[in-house]
Amino acid sequence: PVAHIAVIGAGIAGLACAQALTDAGLAVTLFDKARGPGGRMSSRHRPDAVVDLGAQAFTARDPAFIAALDTWRHAGCAAGWPDSAWRAGPGGWQRIHDGRERFCGAPRMSAITRYLADQVEQAGAALHPATRIRAIDGAPGALRLQSEQGDIFGPYTQVVIAVPPPQAEPLVQPWDNVLGERCRHLAQRACWAGWAIFDAPLPTPQGVDANWQQAHAEHPALRLVSRNQRKPGRDRQPESVTLLAHSDWSEAHLEDAPAQVADVLLDALATLFSGQPLPALVEHGAHRWRYSQPADGGAFRPENGFIIGAAGLALCGDSLRGGRVEDAWLSGHRLGQRLGQGLTGCD
Ligand code: FAD
Repeated sequence: PVAHIAVIGAGIAGLACAQALTDAGLAVTLFDKARGPGGRMSSRHRPDAVVDLGAQAFTARDPAFIAALDTWRHAGCAAGWPDSAWRAGPGGWQRIHDGRERFCGAPRMSAITRYLADQVEQAGAALHPATRIRAIDGAPGALRLQSEQGDIFGPYTQVVIAVPPPQAEPLVQPWDNVLGERCRHLAQRACWAGWAIFDAPLPTPQGVDANWQQAHAEHPALRLVSRNQRKPGRDRQPESVTLLAHSDWSEAHLEDAPAQVADVLLDALATLFSGQPLPALVEHGAHRWRYSQPADGGAFRPENGFIIGAAGLALCGDSLRGGRVEDAWLSGHRLGQRLGQGLTGCD
């Protein structure tokens, strides 16, 4: 029988894995609980603007990831950004640059994962959105997935779980204690992501370029301000900022109402402009990422960045490597290559 692989989670790790598997000629079916692919690279569409809610920009170090990024840039779904980054604190604003080039999706962060989803679908993979997998049953070599809605999918030769470890743990625990134990030790930090749309540009602090793109805030709640209308392909939208909170603050305020968090982050933004008023607000809100980026995974992180466990289950995702977009892509890509070699006998 032909090998058929299920991938749970259509974030960049699950999509990279699916792409490597379809490249190896294998049949793949992807599932995601959200309405579309993207996971932590998703963007929110509002009537006046699109705001990126998760990753704002990413770096590229590994040659395989740089090659993938070149393909995305060529296809027009990724571009360089930002080149005007600042540190904003009580002592004023200072330009910062660590020498690393950064990139983002164009015209929104989710354009990259949308592109990858289209690629794998064109290669024959099926994608089931709005399908939360709540259990795995069947037998090794013929695994079945049960969705929250009660549907049964499968059988599958192999199941790849490309979701944050705390969400993977209940799926793997009944099959594989060792994998379950590992998931319990790979904790994730929380992050509140606020956003605000204004009817006019924010004030320009003294000595700062009016087109500033990103500000690292020295504030107890607010960590990062990103101007979405300064991202590639979005220059026609009004002032629309993403406001990321610190993990410590987010965890201390995890159960607060989104509207309350949105107000705190907006007040924090106002403190960065030395008393100059913010323009009129059109709309604001906040999204809670319960599992935003991994805490230090330490010894529980595998050396190769993915885990192939017993019973036909495998794990990938950013937490198994490091916590960045590049880590997530590499984890999924390398797992897909490895499974492709094992299941087709080719390398
Ligand atoms: P995810 O994107 O989380 O994908 C997992 C998918 O699984 C999700 O789509 C989810 O809906 C789905 N899922 C979960 N459970 C189930 C289930 N039971 N059934 C079906 N589907 C399920 N990275 C950087 O490189 N630079 C940054 O500056 C940066 N900043 C960040 C800021 C924030 C606020 C956040 C949240 C993340 C940031 N990151 C950053 C990290 C980056 O976004 C992630 O490393 C990467 O997107 C993770 O991809 P992934 O595929 O591993 O996981």
